[in-house]
Amino acid sequence: MSKKSAFQFLDLPRQMPQRIPLELRTAGDWGELYGKFGLADAQYQAGRCLDCGNPYCSWKCPVHNAIPQWLQLVQENRIAEAAALCHSTNPLPEVCGRVCPQDRLCEGSCTLEEFGAVTIGAVEKYIVDAALESGWRPDLSQVQASGKRVAVVGAGPAGLACADRLARAGIHAVVFDRYEQIGGLLQFGIPSFKLDKRVIDTRREVLEGMGVEFRLGVEVGGDLALSELLEEFDAVFLGTGAYRYTDGGLPGQELNGVLPALPFLVQNSRIVSGNDPALSSIGGRPIAGWEDKIALPDLDGRRVVVLGGGDTGMDCVRSAIRLGAAKVTCAYRRDEANMPGSAREVANAREEGVRFLFNRQPLAIEGDADGNVRGVQVVETRLGDPDERGRQRAVPIEGSESLLEADVVIIAFGFSPSVPDWLTELGVEGTPNGRIVAAACDDGSGRLPYQTTNPKLFAGGDCVRGADLVVTAVAEGRDAAASIADMLLA
Ligand SMILES: Cc1cc2nc3c(=O)[nH]c(=O)nc-3n(C[C@H](O)[C@H](O)[C@H](O)COP(=O)(O)OP(=O)(O)OC[C@H]3O[C@@H](n4cnc5c(N)ncnc54)[C@H](O)[C@@H]3O)c2cc1C
Repeated sequence: MSKKSAFQFLDLPRQMPQRIPLELRTAGDWGELYGKFGLADAQYQAGRCLDCGNPYCSWKCPVHNAIPQWLQLVQENRIAEAAALCHSTNPLPEVCGRVCPQDRLCEGSCTLEEFGAVTIGAVEKYIVDAALESGWRPDLSQVQASGKRVAVVGAGPAGLACADRLARAGIHAVVFDRYEQIGGLLQFGIPSFKLDKRVIDTRREVLEGMGVEFRLGVEVGGDLALSELLEEFDAVFLGTGAYRYTDGGLPGQELNGVLPALPFLVQNSRIVSGNDPALSSIGGRPIAGWEDKIALPDLDGRRVVVLGGGDTGMDCVRSAIRLGAAKVTCAYRRDEANMPGSAREVANAREEGVRFLFNRQPLAIEGDADGNVRGVQVVETRLGDPDERGRQRAVPIEGSESLLEADVVIIAFGFSPSVPDWLTELGVEGTPNGRIVAAACDDGSGRLPYQTTNPKLFAGGDCVRGADLVVTAVAEGRDAAASIADMLLA
């Protein structure tokens, strides 16, 4: 199908793939919310692209996907070429098509935004799913093995992207992860209604087909010393993520019925995927101090309050709905415009029955005489002067305190990284807020991009940036691999 008219976008509205009906979602269906485009849907939506000559969509995309070009290939039904082009910038395109906040990135900067942006994410998902289902695989037949070997610590998006690019450069990548499954937060944090876990299984098979080796269930710094990896391998990439829990220090956090977000999501994802819900093998390690609080309470018919308005908070409220909670409220201290969660996910949550209370700051969690939570004491806020990061502060309004009744409170204030001793002992510097120091391009340090202060060690993703996005972790893993290849193959 070729483009019929530059004004086709006026006749043909933006359309997302069909979603699972609301009554199924609220009855506990954990399936991926958005269905799949067929070829005709993908071609029609791709045909809405104006090929405007100023592809802000590509510039805004952290991996700079060649979006107008692959939309054109879809229109011409050249799906395998489109898939190869998607992979040329993004080692995990089918994942990003599903979980990227496109409304803030490519689609948010589409020239057609005012009329309804091109559904870039849904077309990306179509291209890669269709190509992989038809047997297409990245072609490495021209790649010459270099004999070099690199260890990748962490099988999250940063580590997987790095391994993909190393394999393409002829470098043997061995990926270590403390968990038995790959994916990092894609596997255990992000719920299946956003990302079907079979997508990660397929990606594992693709990467293994490219020669990437996985050694899973191995904690580096615990089961295996990093110094051993440095001896055995030519370089090491660290993509260890950000798992230091921001607890907010609220009085009453120890009450029964108060849960940290990540163990709650991890537990659900293990139950949904049919795995043993016991968390002993994965949940306790990353979130120090919460190991004794990981039993998941029955949410059926309960009132749930989620504190925090980021992606994690949205995943918690929507999971609580699927678990049968009678009333789910998200309390956020700033207004809706300032909420960090993706607007699309907020809209989905609202449709599923979540109530949002903006400009509410929690002061304390209240309990009853038996030590069970009974609610959250909140105070109303107004927006004040900007803080050091430029965001307007939430200023409490005196005398506006009230109790938000709850049987279960989930704390979703976010995560930050931390630099373990076993890294600093090997000369890796961290910042005061726990990020691994890795060089940026032309930062005057004389180091290659993503090289740490130990020249054999590179790092990227959330452990360097702080908690961020899948696509930024992918970008850093990809670019760190290029630096490693520069160092080893020069
Ligand atoms: C609940 C939730 C929902 C989110 N939703 C979205 C979303 O919708 N869209 C989006 O773009 N982003 C989302 N994010 C953010 C996104 O998941 C992360 O930014 C991204 O996964 C970071 O990738 P990473 O590879 O740096 O780290 P991770 O995904 O955290 O992977 C790190 C890996 O390193 C392993 N590891 C750590 N230390 C060791 C060690 N010592 N030895 C061996 N292995 C180790 C861990 O087990 C883990 O597998 C969400 C995050 C959360 C928590």
